[in-house]
Order: sequence, then C-alpha cells, then structure tokens
Amino acid sequence: MHAIRGDAHEEIRAHFGSLEAWQAIGDWSTFDVPQPSRVPSLLDHGYDEDLPATAWDADLYRDAADFRGGGLITGDVTRGDIATPLAWTCAHGHIFAASPRLVLTAGHWCPECVRPSVSGRCAARGRCGRGVIVRARRGAVHSRSDDDRRDVSRASTT
Ligand SMILES: [Zn+2]
Repeated sequence: MHAIRGDAHEEIRAHFGSLEAWQAIGDWSTFDVPQPSRVPSLLDHGYDEDLPATAWDADLYRDAADFRGGGLITGDVTRGDIATPLAWTCAHGHIFAASPRLVLTAGHWCPECVRPSVSGRCAARGRCGRGVIVRARRGAVHSRSDDDRRDVSRASTT
C-alpha cells in the first residue's frame, strides 16, 4: 500500500505488475476462497507401497531412490532385509547410509541436504551442502566451510 499511496511506479510494478493490475484485484466480495478437494488421495512415494516389506528388493529401492532424484549404490541387496543399511546417493551426489526401512517407511533421505544452514556465509560460497556446524567452547553456533575446518579443529583444542 505504501507503493500505491506514494505512486512509486517501480515498486508497484515489482509487487503487482502494474497499477492497472492492482486496481483489477478487486475487494473481498470478488475473492473466491480456495476449496481443496474433499476426495482423499494418497501421496506417491515412487515405489509400490502395496508390496509387503518381505518382498522389498533392489528394484524397489532403485525406484524409490530414482523418485527422489538419487540412486541406490549398494549392488548386493537381500530381498526382505529392511534393517541393514545400504549406500544411497542423493540428487546432489552426496553418499550416505540408511536402511530401507528408514528411507521407505520413515521418509528419511540425504542427511547432508537436510542439514540447516546457520548463516549465509557458506551459501555465498556455493558450498552450503558441505558446511559443518560447530559448537564452539563459548557456546555459540558457527557455520564453517570445508576450508575452515582446520581453523575449527584448532579452535576446539584451545
Ligand atoms: Zn544430499
């Protein structure tokens, strides 16, 4: 509204596209409240979820990994063994170990990709996926890139 009141054309264009587009929005009487479908639907997880765990095999794991943009690295897989960790890769090439049960039933995936970024520092370097979080002795949490690990190890021993 500040942009409209101030007749700031650049801001109006950035927010609404144009003054005419903002004027065409209308008021609450013209707003249609979105109505989600009332028909329940199941989410696709990229594999046949009707198969019992005793029938899970490498093909099923490959399907699930492919659905997530990654892959199954382990080649020797025992059908029905859902507890032994296997090697997987995510869409970004991170390699991690996880059991089929953890991936397929609990929904876990690459721990590197879900690691929160504490600061924009590593993102600015394009290394956010490889950043590490270090709790310094002072109690502060810092984000460090691979290049800073030497400094981190020195800091943690002092
Ligand atoms: Zn990853």
